[in-house]
Amino acid sequence: MLNLKSLFPDQAKFQKSLRDFYAHRNDFVRQSILDNGIQFISQNRLFDNNIEFYIIVESGSLDDPDDKEGIAHFLEHLLVDPELNHEFEQRGGNIENLATSFTTVRFSGKIPNTHENQSFLADVFKKFLTGERISEITFDKEKKRILNEIGIQADNSGTHALTLLGQAFRAGRADPNIMGNRDIVRNVKISDLQSYLDKHFSGPNIYIAMTGKFDHQEMHNKLNTALSTVPSHTVSKRDPLVFVPGDYRNENTHLMQLYFHFCFPSPAHNPAKSALYSMAYGYLLHKVTHGLVFGNDLCYHTESRPILPLGSPGYLSFTGNLMPEDGSRVIPETRDIITTLIEDGIDIDTFNIIKSLQLQEYQNQKFWRKGHSAESLAFNLIYNGSVHPFGEEENKLLDIRPEDVQKFLIEETLSHAPAIITYGDSSKMGSYEEFAGPIQDALARQNQPKAKL
Ligand SMILES: [Zn+2]
Repeated sequence: MLNLKSLFPDQAKFQKSLRDFYAHRNDFVRQSILDNGIQFISQNRLFDNNIEFYIIVESGSLDDPDDKEGIAHFLEHLLVDPELNHEFEQRGGNIENLATSFTTVRFSGKIPNTHENQSFLADVFKKFLTGERISEITFDKEKKRILNEIGIQADNSGTHALTLLGQAFRAGRADPNIMGNRDIVRNVKISDLQSYLDKHFSGPNIYIAMTGKFDHQEMHNKLNTALSTVPSHTVSKRDPLVFVPGDYRNENTHLMQLYFHFCFPSPAHNPAKSALYSMAYGYLLHKVTHGLVFGNDLCYHTESRPILPLGSPGYLSFTGNLMPEDGSRVIPETRDIITTLIEDGIDIDTFNIIKSLQLQEYQNQKFWRKGHSAESLAFNLIYNGSVHPFGEEENKLLDIRPEDVQKFLIEETLSHAPAIITYGDSSKMGSYEEFAGPIQDALARQNQPKAKL
């Protein structure tokens, strides 16, 4: 009987050469910079009939003028009009994502890879990045659409909770608001949008990622010609975000649910530690998600998010919603999970689950058909400046020990005072001190030399 083990008696060596083999897959990733500073990254996918693209402009709502919130989002509405959606569909493709965040404006989609579609795409990118579609007609139409969106948002408690979260990251502005309010939006002029575009849509602030069966250099030349009118000035960066710990509550009593975030600052993204970062946060988020189950309801949604640009801090957040009457359980149960981690260390079973999940994720990326998504290429370019070779990240992950995870979480995240943010009736929920105090105590005890028994 054929036995893999007998063929390759040294399993560790076999695994390593497999990883080295796959690392060469990154030979198909190419990077270059267009004449005006736009960074372009692509992965040649030999067996893919489509082109996928992902464009990031690294400016967002936090770059709106102070008295004109909502400009970046308004502009996004005018860069791609509904007619373009239709054009993509007629060509067998689609627009996947068009969005504005605090720190980005993004545009992505997919289209069959033909020479004609390649030229079509280059032209679409040009219209998107130069604002060529901004006109009086679409401007008035989109203004109505946005006023309508603001109305819908006013009733969305989750959005309010997220806006409150923004208060913990003050950037010279207490309450960042992506859509802006009705008064501002009513008075926006085309010239406001144009000046945002002129300032921020410049080569060094733009990243384009594409995947598909094409030659990088040929595509580079095509984009270079099509995007030659995009300016190339350096875009001045906003002040770095500052995390302000504290208790942020909005006691909105007409709500039937209580929304909350427990938020810790996380360190500025460091490419050298990315495997440890995902391992550590994956562990803690798993612990909280599985530790806090109310009846049959998983009331918790947990997440960690880096914040752009590279070098800014991110945050680790435990987020959820529940009935206000269950509010009293939230603080003690979350706090106990954290203090247990500080005092008793990492539980090996969970550690191994997270490690193998993470390993699977790295390994999934290896299959030919999958490769890197255009989205992950684009974000890798911003966060890391390049794409980590597959094998390299995997090797780093395999070397991580439970004590590394504990040390990282304590030193880089849990030792900072948190922010508590709620929206809704939080009268049953305990105080800030009931959450933060025992965590601080546990940290202090860890620093004491242990008594000899
Ligand atoms: Zn919108």
